Amino acid sequence: MKSYTRLLIGALLVAIGCQPVFAKLNVIATTPDLASIAKEIGGDHIDLLTLAKPTEDPHFVDAKPSFMVKLNRADVLIEGGAELEVGWLPALLDQARNSKLAQGAPGRVACAQGVQLQEVPSTLDRSRGDIHAAGNPHYIIDPVNARIVAKTIADAFCAQDEKGCDAYRANAKKFTETLDAKLAEWQRTLAPFKGQQVVAYHNSWLYFGERFGLKIDLFLEPKPGIPPTPTHLAEVITKMKEDKVHVILVDPYLDRRTAVTVANRTGATVVDVTQFPGGVKGTDGGYIALLDYLVNSVAKALAGTK
Ligand SMILES: [Zn+2]
Repeated sequence: MKSYTRLLIGALLVAIGCQPVFAKLNVIATTPDLASIAKEIGGDHIDLLTLAKPTEDPHFVDAKPSFMVKLNRADVLIEGGAELEVGWLPALLDQARNSKLAQGAPGRVACAQGVQLQEVPSTLDRSRGDIHAAGNPHYIIDPVNARIVAKTIADAFCAQDEKGCDAYRANAKKFTETLDAKLAEWQRTLAPFKGQQVVAYHNSWLYFGERFGLKIDLFLEPKPGIPPTPTHLAEVITKMKEDKVHVILVDPYLDRRTAVTVANRTGATVVDVTQFPGGVKGTDGGYIALLDYLVNSVAKALAGTK
């Protein structure tokens, strides 16, 4: 009798292992902002892995060998595109040898394709170290672009998993509705500061500034990806004093000490920001929690310096 029970359990386990109720889509997102939106859309229909840490520079992600194995088994890869990941992702994909994720394959989702990119140069030129050679790739931080990304991801999931499609569409609708309501609230919060100038360390706040009426066009880096030089910082300090700029944004992976030095010379406030859920305390809850944090902390800093 005992052995019969064991057999039965064994058979059951085999059945569960070989015939799952539904196979989850195996999804990889390059950065945590994309992962957050993918989670909203995919819910429990997907298994999700994020390659970059929220405190990591998305241009320079530590490409661990374990990523290769994960990429080899993935059904869908969601990337920002516009060369955001060009420094680390192509080599991993070459080694992963997964035809589902080849350029142009339905499993390869480059979210930049649906978005109106800014600062696109007429010719691609990386010769001077500019890591934004294909245009500014930090577009997801504008909620209107996050809306477009949600649709792109829902379309991609539907193409891979017909049975889950109704759920993906419903989730995308819900996320978009919440986003639209929150956008109106965020715009009201930042409305009193329309036209104000803000300094950023790296040119990753352009789309956020444009959406919320802030001018974020003065940077501690002389060019995207080129570390600050004393000559450049002296120019920035002069401009900040002339134009009465009192807020400096700095992301977790950049050199905060440089921002503090400039702040000390100009009387400005350093605001710790991130474009990735979890990058700064209080942003763990996902994309909407992240925007809540950003809008409120930037508004607070601008209000304090008025
Ligand atoms: Zn950048």
